[in-house]
Amino acid sequence: MAALDGLPPLRDVIQRHGLDAKKALGQNFLLDLNLTQKIARTAGALEDATVIEVGPGPGGLTRAILALGAKKVVAIERDSRCLPALAEISDHYPNRLEVIEGDALKIDFEAISGGGPVKIIANLPYNVGTQLLVNWLLPKTWPPFWQSLTLMFQREVGLRIVADADDDHYGRLGVLCGWRTNARMAFDVPPQAFTPPPKVTSSVVHLEPIANPIPCAVTSLEKVTHAAFGQRRKMLRQSLKPLGGEALLAKADIDPQRRAETLSVEEFCRLANFL
Ligand code: SAM
Repeated sequence: MAALDGLPPLRDVIQRHGLDAKKALGQNFLLDLNLTQKIARTAGALEDATVIEVGPGPGGLTRAILALGAKKVVAIERDSRCLPALAEISDHYPNRLEVIEGDALKIDFEAISGGGPVKIIANLPYNVGTQLLVNWLLPKTWPPFWQSLTLMFQREVGLRIVADADDDHYGRLGVLCGWRTNARMAFDVPPQAFTPPPKVTSSVVHLEPIANPIPCAVTSLEKVTHAAFGQRRKMLRQSLKPLGGEALLAKADIDPQRRAETLSVEEFCRLANFL
């Protein structure tokens, strides 16, 4: 059955271009264009936006983003085998899709984003997803160059991203995301939605930057969360000993008997500022 955008079904595209999934590149493809449209729609209106996509693969999500009217899509793909399939999409949507062959970890995203509002939408390769997210959360300047991040992760990672204090999944990633963004869980995607199916459920999360996060030095915040969550079952007076322990906690007016997972983002920032 032909897809609604007039391009061939993704299963045919994959077969014609010999895109057997490579595990080392985290290739689990989405072939259902209704699902990829649901992901793209989570990012809100796309008409005025430049969308950056990491890992378009055979182009299922790319096609949804373009069909929903994105002004421009810049897609970064490491696997050169996917380029001919992506070129077909580019021909179908003239001047709206630019494909960069390369490793997303080495790309200067700010430089490729152009002038207008930027939305990042991606079904991320599981082995580099968290690192990319952290890079996007720690750009040279804040507010960042992007307006929103709509990203698919393994559910476990998604839960860590949106976790607040007193949640089992709360940790360094939750503090970083909670400090600089409003992050929410959008929806889950079961393994059987992918080809080939991964072992675990995935989740789409959506993050928008907080314009004025609590002033705090990233390096200090990372030192504090690293020490505190490194021994998350211990009391803070013990886990924070290398950083000043009880003296630091007293300055920040935090009970030394508390544990890392009970501290709010604001309390972590206070500790970081006294460090
Ligand atoms: N977007 C497609 C979809 O939803 O069906 C494919 C998603 S698949 C989970 C991840 C994609 O990221 C693959 O196409 C893979 O080749 C690509 N990839 C893996 N590592 C990459 C990297 N370091 N930089 C850019 N792309 C990468």
